[in-house]
Amino acid sequence: MMPIPYGRQSITDEDIEAVIQTLKSDYLTQGPKIKEFEEAFAAYIGSEYAVAVSNGTAALHLNCIALGVKPGVKVITTPITFAASANCVRYCGGEVVFADIDPDTYLLDISKVRELLEKSPKGTYSGIIPVDFAGRAVDLEAFRKLADEYGLWIIEDACHAPGGYFVDSSKNQQSCGNGNFADLAIFSFHPVKHIAAGEGGMTTTNSKVLYEKLVMLRTHGIIKDDLKYQNSVSFATGVNTGSAQEEQEQVDYPGWYMEMQELGYNYRLTDIQAALGLSQLGRAEKGLVRRKDIAEVYRDAFSGQDFVLSQSGVVVGHAYHLYVLEVKDRVGLYNFLRGKSIYAQIHYIPTHLMPYYRELGWKEGDMPIAEEYYNNCISLPMYPTLSYDEQRFVIDTILLYYSEKNCS
Ligand SMILES: *Cc1c(COP(=O)(O)O)cnc(C)c1O
Repeated sequence: MMPIPYGRQSITDEDIEAVIQTLKSDYLTQGPKIKEFEEAFAAYIGSEYAVAVSNGTAALHLNCIALGVKPGVKVITTPITFAASANCVRYCGGEVVFADIDPDTYLLDISKVRELLEKSPKGTYSGIIPVDFAGRAVDLEAFRKLADEYGLWIIEDACHAPGGYFVDSSKNQQSCGNGNFADLAIFSFHPVKHIAAGEGGMTTTNSKVLYEKLVMLRTHGIIKDDLKYQNSVSFATGVNTGSAQEEQEQVDYPGWYMEMQELGYNYRLTDIQAALGLSQLGRAEKGLVRRKDIAEVYRDAFSGQDFVLSQSGVVVGHAYHLYVLEVKDRVGLYNFLRGKSIYAQIHYIPTHLMPYYRELGWKEGDMPIAEEYYNNCISLPMYPTLSYDEQRFVIDTILLYYSEKNCS
């Protein structure tokens, strides 16, 4: 049996052909594939706008800038996520405040967020970054209501959940990142995510103002738009006579002209990556169906097993990025699986206990539910090309471990 990782990309001949076509085209970057990918992605997610960037972390960073995070700004997020969900606030000098997770969903617990908000004067916090962890959609309708009470913005970290959704109070499906509740949402196209582009990220939003801001920030803070320039036409042309008559004759900014109006970055995606992402996007829905099959098989295999403390299970609208078990003797199981070339993974070491965040004052005991979850959790292999035989082998190996343990 080949090694079985917890996640892996699948690259088809079609994907390879799409990349080759782009390599042969006129544009390796800043070309037509970016717009095509953005439009197709927005259509898939159901948002008005999408902005492609170099990776998910860059998307988070730009979102924080666009929403005005700076020193003194406090933002709430979950400790059970990839560190980038919190780090973006630090890039801008803001303060990260963690709130504990709900032990049933593993998601940021809205009641813990409410507690934080209630015990401080209004205006203490500026935003919330909930995460659709493992692919399970956050109930953003509830978060929006709470955020509105306190005047907060929301960035949805939807890296795990393209194609996922929650059902709102009017029984409508609200797809992750659709922009109906969160101000901004972000996705990643790292190979381990649902749509692989090598590296890559996307922000989706329904706000034209934020969209335009992100497009500008993605490329150095530069704009090219006659209607928005701040310097005068006479400055732009160099015809700087100051005479009113010349100003009137010279109505157009010259073709080369552009302005850097804010301190932006080079966070662009290349057309090569966009072509791969676009090709992968075409198979996203199929991948999701296969992921759900895998989740059902795991659920059935582990329901009622006494070594299982909890599991991801099968949940309406789940995007099944990860299949998590909470088990007894997690370390023993993890090592046993490795011995059989099954590379399960742990998602996540709580962010607040990373040395960097300890340095900022966070410590053990601050997030008891997240810490307990971390002691028990293990993510099982989950990706569309995982074969039935491979999944069977994973399940049998886990069952074998606990039956041997009981005998000894
Ligand atoms: C992958 C991931 C990110 C970061 O995305 P990159 O593209 O790797 O920068 C952020 N948040 C979560 C939850 C992720 O899984």
